[in-house]
Amino acid sequence: MSNKEIQDLGLTKQREVVLQVIRDAESHMTANEVFAGAKQLLPSISFATVYNSLRYLKDAGHIAEIQFGNGASRFDRMPHRHDHAICTKCGKLVDIEMEHPKELVKMAAKYSHFKPESLEFTLRGICPECMEKI
Ligand SMILES: [Zn+2]
Ligand SMILES: [Zn+2]
Repeated sequence: MSNKEIQDLGLTKQREVVLQVIRDAESHMTANEVFAGAKQLLPSISFATVYNSLRYLKDAGHIAEIQFGNGASRFDRMPHRHDHAICTKCGKLVDIEMEHPKELVKMAAKYSHFKPESLEFTLRGICPECMEKI
């Protein structure tokens, strides 16, 4: 999404800046990291405004929020369903976009007795950068 497209969403300047920071990031940022990035673009922005903008953008479907265990929430520029891999050494979080095997969904539904709607998984392991240091 280009800056022009972001401007066309009719967001307030603050929300626009917050969305831009998340869209430009290669990583999945915490609220604190988004705040630091937003401040570079708009020095007057407060943490409360960034936080409220994150809530707004999430509710509007422009971004997604992900939580792992008791760590801080991270914000994701891809609001559609996708999976993640997390490095257990450095905490790096990357996107995985792949189809789930139908059998897996069926099996999860069978064990839980749920009617399945969606499935997401997190692969935990060691990232390539950390592997090199071993
Ligand atoms: Zn790592
Ligand atoms: Zn993601």
